[in-house]
Amino acid sequence: MAGTKAAMEKDYSVDDYICAICDEGGDLICCDGDCGRSFHPTKPTGEASHCDTLGLSEEQLELPEFLCENCESKKHQCFVCGELGSSDQGGDEQVIIQCNKRGCKRFYHPYCLPLDINKIPEDACPMHECYSCKKKNATSEDNKMTGKTKGKETCRKKHATSEGNKTRGQSKGRGTWEMNLVLCRRCPKAFHRKCLPREMFGGEGNIQRIWETAGGTVFYCGDHEMVENLRSAKRNHIKFREEKPKGAAENQSVEDGNK
Ligand SMILES: [Zn+2]
Ligand SMILES: [Zn+2]
Ligand SMILES: [Zn+2]
Ligand SMILES: [Zn+2]
Ligand SMILES: [Zn+2]
Ligand SMILES: [Zn+2]
Repeated sequence: MAGTKAAMEKDYSVDDYICAICDEGGDLICCDGDCGRSFHPTKPTGEASHCDTLGLSEEQLELPEFLCENCESKKHQCFVCGELGSSDQGGDEQVIIQCNKRGCKRFYHPYCLPLDINKIPEDACPMHECYSCKKKNATSEDNKMTGKTKGKETCRKKHATSEGNKTRGQSKGRGTWEMNLVLCRRCPKAFHRKCLPREMFGGEGNIQRIWETAGGTVFYCGDHEMVENLRSAKRNHIKFREEKPKGAAENQSVEDGNK
C-alpha cells in the first residue's frame, strides 16, 4: 500500500498557522507551552477576523517567552467536554491528558474518551480515525509513528504568517487528498475528505463548513452552530480560566418574609 506518505506530510499542525480563537491566520503569537496553539495577540492584530484576541499589550509581546493562560496555570480544556482540568504531570492531581500523536496536542479527561484509559493517550484520541467509516473499518491503519513532542521545531515563531487566511484550496494528488483526515476545530471528530457529506462544502443554500488554508484545513462538523458572516462556528469554545457560573443569582438578596 502506498498510503503511508500522507501521514508523514502531516507533521505540522494547522494550529501553527491559525488563531485558536478565531481560526484565521495573520499576525500570530505562538504559545511556548504544551498547548502549541497560536493566537492573535493584540486587538489590532485581530481586527480583520473580528477576533477577541488575547488582548496583550505591546510590552507583553516583547517578552522572550509567551505562555497562554492555560499553559501558565497548567489547566487545559478537555476537547470533549470543554471543561478545564489540571494537566500538571508533577502533581498527583492530574486529570487531563494530552495526545502527542503527530502534533495533535489535544487534551482530554480520560473518562471523556470512548476507549479504555489504559491505552492513553496515543490510541484513545478519536482525531486519528474517520468518524464516518470507523464503524465499517474496525482497524485504523494509522501508522505507528512515535512522534513525541515536536512542538518546538514546528512552531512558527512569533508574528508568523498570513498564510492561514481562508482561501480556496490548492490541489494535491487526488487520491491521498481525499483520504486525508479533516479534523473538526471544535470537537474530536475527524473525517476522510471523501467521507464528508457534500453539503459541508457549501453551495446550493448549504452553509459551508470547510475551508482550505495554506496552513491546513479548517473544518467544523455538523454539531456546531455556524456564524455565517464570520465563516466559523460560534467562538465560545475557549476557556482560559474557571468562571463564576452565570445566572446563579448568588448576590440576590434573600427577601425578608416578615409579616
Ligand atoms: Zn484570532
Ligand atoms: Zn498554551
Ligand atoms: Zn472532558
Ligand atoms: Zn490525538
Ligand atoms: Zn472515512
Ligand atoms: Zn465537531
